[in-house]
Amino acid sequence: MSFHGTQRGYSFEFFPPKTDASRQRLAKTVQKLAPLRPSFVSVTFGAGGSTREGSFQTASEILRTTSLDVTPHLSCIGSTREQLTEQLDTYRAIGVKRVVALRGDVPEAEAQLPRAFAYANELVEFIRDYGGFEISVAAYPEFHPEAQSPEADVANFVRKARAGATEAITQYFYSNDTYYRFLDWVQRLGIEIPIVPGIMPLTDFKQVERFSKFCGAEIPAWIRKRMHALEGDARGQEELGIELASRQAEELLRSGVPGLHFYTLNRAEPTLRVCHSLGLSDAAAHAPTQPSAN
Ligand code: FAD
Repeated sequence: MSFHGTQRGYSFEFFPPKTDASRQRLAKTVQKLAPLRPSFVSVTFGAGGSTREGSFQTASEILRTTSLDVTPHLSCIGSTREQLTEQLDTYRAIGVKRVVALRGDVPEAEAQLPRAFAYANELVEFIRDYGGFEISVAAYPEFHPEAQSPEADVANFVRKARAGATEAITQYFYSNDTYYRFLDWVQRLGIEIPIVPGIMPLTDFKQVERFSKFCGAEIPAWIRKRMHALEGDARGQEELGIELASRQAEELLRSGVPGLHFYTLNRAEPTLRVCHSLGLSDAAAHAPTQPSAN
């Protein structure tokens, strides 16, 4: 099955490693995932301290050592407009063609960070006016936790898309219906950019459960119950997480999504296994095939 109407395909997200050991682990992860020939890999941006430089270093390291397209994330928080311009200059110079434009979050204990813009839509306009980059933005099928209402959040998303975004990547979700409803809503408002589902295999249930409370992504009760039944069996939970992500991605592919974005948490195995279960072998990677029927 090819992705409907786009050349977008798969993308894999990494975060900047902080230690030598985790840098080496990420290099191995990238090596293992590269043969799947993703449309691009993205590197998150941390507004606080060392992670700011880490994003650039990780992006340039992947560009230097592979033939992958790299998409760095940029955020309104943690940079001034001048610094954003410098980042764009540098990214353009090293061959980056796409960025993910975000508002970002203020890390605890770093309330005094520079903030070039209040909201992502202004950053999108800024990058559009700078020129030369495809611009991805974030979308929230279950709505952003700070939004005044679902309607306000959707209106803000529409504003961000109209500001010049060329695609959106969703927050992870575990109920595909929330994605279909969100898609339907924004399409009725005239938004036609590809909205690519973000997939987070539930390999570390406790960690994702904690993070989900913060980011507003719901873990359905039936999944929580199945995970709780495997409490103490980390391997069993991981197997279940990979199985669920495979089924979820398969259904999304059948529904005609424009691509799939994997939150890898810098690990290769879960994403590799989900992609293989979809029929995406290393050899056939750039021409995604029909998901397997089982
Ligand atoms: P916005 O689109 O600006 O929205 C933020 C909130 O403000 C929403 O509630 C929205 O409804 C509201 N809002 C938007 N515009 C307006 C307006 N004009 N007036 C009033 N209210 C408005 N975080 C990181 O720190 N680094 C990363 O690398 C990173 N990568 C991510 C990648 C993806 C695919 C996703 C889905 C999220 C990522 N995040 C990342 C998390 C993201 O930064 C947070 O969710 C953040 O709180 C919101 O960012 P945003 O770009 O969606 O913000």
